[in-house]
Amino acid sequence: MAGNVVTRYENVVKSYGALTVVKGLNLEVRRGEFLSLLGPSGSGKTTTLMMLAGLETPTSGRILLDGVSIEGIPPHRRNIGVVFQNYALFPHMTVAENLAYPLKARRMARPEIGSRVQRALEIVKLESLAERRPAQLSGGQQQRVALARALVFEPSVVLLDEPLGALDRQLRETMQLELKQLHSETSVTMIYVTHDQGEAMTMSDRVAVFHDGNLLQCAPPKQLYDEPESAFVAEFVGENN
Ligand code: ADP
Repeated sequence: MAGNVVTRYENVVKSYGALTVVKGLNLEVRRGEFLSLLGPSGSGKTTTLMMLAGLETPTSGRILLDGVSIEGIPPHRRNIGVVFQNYALFPHMTVAENLAYPLKARRMARPEIGSRVQRALEIVKLESLAERRPAQLSGGQQQRVALARALVFEPSVVLLDEPLGALDRQLRETMQLELKQLHSETSVTMIYVTHDQGEAMTMSDRVAVFHDGNLLQCAPPKQLYDEPESAFVAEFVGENN
């Protein structure tokens, strides 16, 4: 596999009983890109992400991460970071403690924990706030902590499932800019699930459009506008724009 491909889905199918929710997915994720999975609710985006994270298993097909099939590798051994919708930071811990916690849980040696926490804080530029608690941070800074906590594992790819979904419109727009900035500073590979076409189109290097378990088209935003390959893509990415 080419070195610039982090993850590859090969003919991946996911069924729940008689219901097939991912219908033969072929998709490559490139190193360093911001890729959005965009589609209406129920189109299979989260299932696609969860199979990579190891929280769901494909019914058939395979998924490669850094050139290796992830089948049989448990979630915590996969080189993946996850950012949740509400960030799920521990309010009683400092920023540094929030980052160290998952590493302690894996019994990593103390000096290694210290250097990883330091590196992650440097990447998201939060070194000076290491001793604060989450409540003493702005929304944007909390987002940085959540990303840093995913980065302490030094993952090949970070998964974000509608991380801004619970926010009001104005804060959401501020956080979109913040996250985009963070991506361009770190060049960490990110896969971002959203049903918001405006969000996907402004933030992403490429957008994968899902409909009813099918990947219809995966292309840079401008190409989706200019050369949609189906009526659904033309309508869906054009909405509210
Ligand atoms: P999206 O993220 O695009 O909203 P999902 O991947 O969450 O879509 O869901 C795709 C479809 O799979 C939906 O119809 C959903 O109801 C169904 N689904 C998801 N998880 C399960 C499950 N554990 N059992 C049965 N059906 C499920």
